[in-house]
Amino acid sequence: MHRAPSACAFGLTLALLTPATLVAKGRELPAPAVRGLQPETAALVQQARARSATVKALVDVLGRSDLVVYVEFPPYLDSATAHTSFLAAFGGHRYLIVSINPRHVVEERIALLGHELQHAVEIAGAPEVRSEETFHRFYLREAWSTSDPRHYETTAAQQAEEMVRRELQVRELPGR
Ligand SMILES: [Zn+2]
Repeated sequence: MHRAPSACAFGLTLALLTPATLVAKGRELPAPAVRGLQPETAALVQQARARSATVKALVDVLGRSDLVVYVEFPPYLDSATAHTSFLAAFGGHRYLIVSINPRHVVEERIALLGHELQHAVEIAGAPEVRSEETFHRFYLREAWSTSDPRHYETTAAQQAEEMVRRELQVRELPGR
């Protein structure tokens, strides 16, 4: 399946989420690096890890990074597919939020999550990204721009999405 380049990876401040609400305290085990912000997105992350080796590998990489990645179905749909935004850097962690349009079927949501988690891995490897401005600067340098100057895309993220899509097809249609 081919889709037009998705609008991805643009910096956006979310007033709903202040850094103080994002700190996980008092847990005996380290909190997972990729966290659903709602029960629905927590279930999506869990399901995606179980069904896609690519998503699991990306989550494992992020677990060894300083990133915390929140996954949400956004209250206001500003993207037809999904995008990643920079939230904050503090307390030794950097926070991203992945917004996925919930109109898609679960397999598509998982493929979009894989795409966005690849963007998160790109940020994990770029410690200089510590603000919306440096997030934009990084993608101006590393990505190709779409028609919207705020939006960037990378080949690696598109490849991750295609890989996840193939994994899910193989699992569901073993005869193909
Ligand atoms: Zn993208």
